[in-house]
Amino acid sequence: MATTAALQYFREDELRVVNEAVAVSEDMTSNAYKMSFAEWRRRRYDIKTLAGLSPEEIVQGPFAQIIRYVGRKAETSLGSSKYDFYKICLQDHSILSTLNEFPELRLFPFAVYIVTHELIHVIRFTKFLQAFDASPQEKMDEEARVHEKTIAILKPARMAGMEAVFEFYRAWQEPLDRVKSA
Ligand SMILES: [Zn+2]
Repeated sequence: MATTAALQYFREDELRVVNEAVAVSEDMTSNAYKMSFAEWRRRRYDIKTLAGLSPEEIVQGPFAQIIRYVGRKAETSLGSSKYDFYKICLQDHSILSTLNEFPELRLFPFAVYIVTHELIHVIRFTKFLQAFDASPQEKMDEEARVHEKTIAILKPARMAGMEAVFEFYRAWQEPLDRVKSA
C-alpha cells in the first residue's frame, strides 16, 4: 500500500488526454470484439485514475491494477445473482514516472496501449477465456497473449507515437499490470 500523499497525480490537462485515450481504446476494442461497450460499461467494469482509487487499489510499479469485485443485482435478495465487476485502476504515478524516464513515450499513445491492454484482460475474464485466479506461469502466458492482441488491434490505426510504445514493450518484458480479487 502506498502513501497517497507522496504520489504524483495526473494534472488536469493530462486527465483530458487520458479520458480521450480511454474513449479511443473502448472504441477500438469494442470494434475488434464486435461488442457494444455502452451497455457494458458501469455494469461490468469501470476505469479510474489515482484520484478515484482507495489505498488498497494503489500499487507501486505496474501501470494498472485490475480488481475484481463481486456485485449483486439489487432487484433480488437471493444470493444466486452475483456478478463480477472489474475495476481498472490506473496508476498515475507509475505512468508519469515512466514518461519521465523514457522521453520518446507520449502520454496519449501510452495510455491507449495500457487501457486497450486492460480491456482485453477484462473481456477475456468475462468470456472465461482466462481464469482470474491463474497460476503465475499461466498469468505470464496470458500477459504475452494480451500484449499480442493489443498490438494486433492498435497497429493498423498507425497512431502517432504508437511505434515507440511497441518498442518500449519489446525492450521491457515486465508485466504491465497486476490482478487481484477484492
Ligand atoms: Zn496485462
